[in-house]
Amino acid sequence: MTQTTNDEPVVELEHVNYEYATKNAVVHAIKDIDLTIYQGEFVCLVGPSGCGKSTLLKTIAGYLEPTSGESRMENEPIKGPHWKRGVVFQSPTLYPWLNVRQNIEYGPRTRKKSKKEIKETSDYYLDQIELSDFAGHYPFELSGGMKQRVSLARVLANKPKLVLMDEPFSALDAITRVKMQDFLRILWKRNKQTILLITHDIEEALSLGTKVVVMTKNPGKIQSIFSVPYSEKILSDETYHIEEDSEFMKQKYTILKEIS
Ligand code: ADP
Ligand code: MG
Repeated sequence: MTQTTNDEPVVELEHVNYEYATKNAVVHAIKDIDLTIYQGEFVCLVGPSGCGKSTLLKTIAGYLEPTSGESRMENEPIKGPHWKRGVVFQSPTLYPWLNVRQNIEYGPRTRKKSKKEIKETSDYYLDQIELSDFAGHYPFELSGGMKQRVSLARVLANKPKLVLMDEPFSALDAITRVKMQDFLRILWKRNKQTILLITHDIEEALSLGTKVVVMTKNPGKIQSIFSVPYSEKILSDETYHIEEDSEFMKQKYTILKEIS
């Protein structure tokens, strides 16, 4: 795959394997993964359940050390979790005893940022997630979509170099899900964020990503990588409707055939 911009690689994986050793067997969860994520890319990783998507995300996050192969971020080997790699999971991870603002401020506060910077950061992200009016609310007072927005803001408040998202919208109802997708697309663009998002939904991958990575299972490996224009089209043209785009439908079908 040729990269058309001069952007820097954020993450580089070379021949990465991960095997889970269980009592009775060794599960080769991901096999020989080569992947480069460049600055500003929105990479969507799609594949059937059990193909190793979460395992791959955890090796990039630094939660799992590859059994073999190399994983680097900004030319440094990935060793353990780091705030530069923010992770958003399927279910929102918020502290129930902290309100929305305090949840967002948690990271910068732990990293001993100045009071002024902490306040500016939480103001900015409260505005970005359109929850300024809910700053004093507690997680139990929020809807699922709102909670997931706070989880995202909490991660972004650390100003991570890379945001890793593992099926972040799959627990949401269909309407909220589409709203969250629109929302994330705008946040990605506005903040020039680099994102890796995992999904088992091909349409979600095609409509959000600048690049779609297709994985297949047994063992989990990368089948193909596509650069796709749909997210940019949605952002730049209000009259564009992805579901009327025959290229999109064709590509969706191609990927479906690859993974099924
Ligand atoms: P996905 O996120 O694509 O559904 P996972 O990365 O969760 O896939 O899992 C990939 C493979 O590794 C599956 O076969 C799964 O059963 C196996 N696996 C995942 N976690 C563990 C674990 N902790 N111990 C043993 N096997 C695991
Ligand atoms: Mg998973």
